[in-house]
Amino acid sequence: MSTPTTEAAPKASRTGEPLLRVESIDAFYGPVRALSGVSIEIGPAEKVALVGANGAGKTSTLRVISGIVTPKTGEIWFGGERIDGLPPHRVVGKGIAHLPEGRQLFAGMSVEENLRFGYYPRRKDKGSLSGELDRVMEYFPRLRERRKQAAGTLSGGEQQMLGVARALMSDPKLLLVDELSLGLAPIIVEDLFDILDQVNRTGTAILIVEQFVHMALANTHRAYVLQKGEVVAAE
Ligand code: ATP
Repeated sequence: MSTPTTEAAPKASRTGEPLLRVESIDAFYGPVRALSGVSIEIGPAEKVALVGANGAGKTSTLRVISGIVTPKTGEIWFGGERIDGLPPHRVVGKGIAHLPEGRQLFAGMSVEENLRFGYYPRRKDKGSLSGELDRVMEYFPRLRERRKQAAGTLSGGEQQMLGVARALMSDPKLLLVDELSLGLAPIIVEDLFDILDQVNRTGTAILIVEQFVHMALANTHRAYVLQKGEVVAAE
């Protein structure tokens, strides 16, 4: 993982853009090339899948978008603004939330405490913390019942719900979801995709990384296929 070298992305803006435009990105981990000339676009309120085999570069693409990995070359535009080079907290501030692979919850903290970490009042007119908790809990009645329970004592499916809920606490315009299905029973994954569908219907765009191609295609509007760090097909 590389560290962003600068706090400020180039000040530039464009109009008539898709919500997200990733343009010709190359990214490396030390000497290891993870992405070669990756370009993808997502429109407002679109639900797009990113599929490919192990090591194809799916996670790296999400990390580059959310500022965890800084691309070596290429540009990333979001809402008409250039965002490559911004650190992750500034990218969240622009309206992109990331559910990382493996969820990365605080196991000893309660459901509610975990959700507080996702709160990020992007706009001055944004809801209060308790208002955002209520808004997000609407999607997850089971989490509402368990709000005082330690995250580590939840079932795998509930933990994944909590991961999605935490990402939604910043009221993102784009939600990045890495391996929603990881280690979960198909019926639970279906429930989670249903929730993502409800979120998407409120106008939030979603980019879903998924190893199970059929599941990804059944639950999105279109897809990109990555192979060895390159986009080899777009549906
Ligand atoms: P998976 O489904 O296994 O997570 P992926 O499609 O998400 O695969 P990436 O994790 O993005 O693929 O990996 C792309 C390439 O970068 C692979 O060759 C991988 O070995 C390499 N890579 C990923 N993370 C690191 C890291 N932290 N250090 C070095 N190389 C890495």
